[in-house]
Amino acid sequence: MIVVMKQGATKQQIEHMIERVEALGLKSHPIYGTERTVIAAIGDKRDEHRASLASGSGVAEVVPILAPYKVASREVKPEPTVVRTGSLAVGNCHLGMIAGPCSVENQQQTMSTARAVKAAGATALRGGAFKPRTSPYSFQGLKEDGLKILAAARDETGLAVVTEVMAATDVPLVARYADVLQIGARNMQNYRLLETAGEQGKPVLLKRGPCATVDELLLAAEYVLNANNPNVMLCERGIRTFESHTRFTLSLASVPYLQERTHLPVVVDPSHGTGRASLVPRMAAAAIAAGADGLIVEVHPEPEIALSDGFQSLTFEQFEQLMQLCRKVADAVGKKIMPNER
Ligand code: PEP
Ligand code: MN
Repeated sequence: MIVVMKQGATKQQIEHMIERVEALGLKSHPIYGTERTVIAAIGDKRDEHRASLASGSGVAEVVPILAPYKVASREVKPEPTVVRTGSLAVGNCHLGMIAGPCSVENQQQTMSTARAVKAAGATALRGGAFKPRTSPYSFQGLKEDGLKILAAARDETGLAVVTEVMAATDVPLVARYADVLQIGARNMQNYRLLETAGEQGKPVLLKRGPCATVDELLLAAEYVLNANNPNVMLCERGIRTFESHTRFTLSLASVPYLQERTHLPVVVDPSHGTGRASLVPRMAAAAIAAGADGLIVEVHPEPEIALSDGFQSLTFEQFEQLMQLCRKVADAVGKKIMPNER
């Protein structure tokens, strides 16, 4: 349930209600909004305490949270969350543009891509150092050496680094180099990983599992949020359907649907969502038209020789064209592709 404080409730009244919620054995999650403060009270058997909490001083009302996810829900926080780190801002009118190779392959490949996407207007660099591959015989990523290359690319270009972490035990290592921890589609329901990634404090980009419903995605986000990490970006990257013309089916309706239900920003991945470079620019534009708060796009200096996902990776020139198209659509829907003002 949510303890909604009156407008102008004092700091002492808010702190007192947090203590009361905790004394009832519930986890308190205060959200300090611009208009008023609310305290989400999370835990089992919460409704029986409703009347007693409602009598607290400074309390406007106590209402149940109807959604199965709590902290992620719009009921708890009506205003949109903006996730900011380094050069990247995602949410509300800020459209984050994350671009880079599927995998970090070597210094030259990553550096040249970072420079090209920065010149085209990207606001963050992506690149996998730990790669989840279907086959154990495929390239698995450069691991820490890859993270070092990403950090060097950030030093030179100023772009924030988004990179995947695959295991809870790797979280401290990846968090030492990354600005945003990506949880991949295959790991969306790896709950220990979600908790550990939440605890390290840096923003998390949580990709939808190809067989997960949007409620399951939101419940997965709840694990990160419950580790007191408010900076979660959801990522629609396509789901598995009977359709075989595209690698996955990019479910763009989930963008406005999610935004009705959560304050968290929604990022779209048209690269994995289509699996075909020729489809990426227009699906990127469509995602922005549908209200996406950001995009994550794969770009490679020579897609033909990429060690992973070359068929869906854009050349520098194609990415530049994608950016031109996306700027027009962003303009039309009142969003701006701009770096975070630090
Ligand atoms: C990736 O971003 O390169 C990736 C592996 O994505 P996903 O987890 O969505 O398959
Ligand atoms: Mn990829």
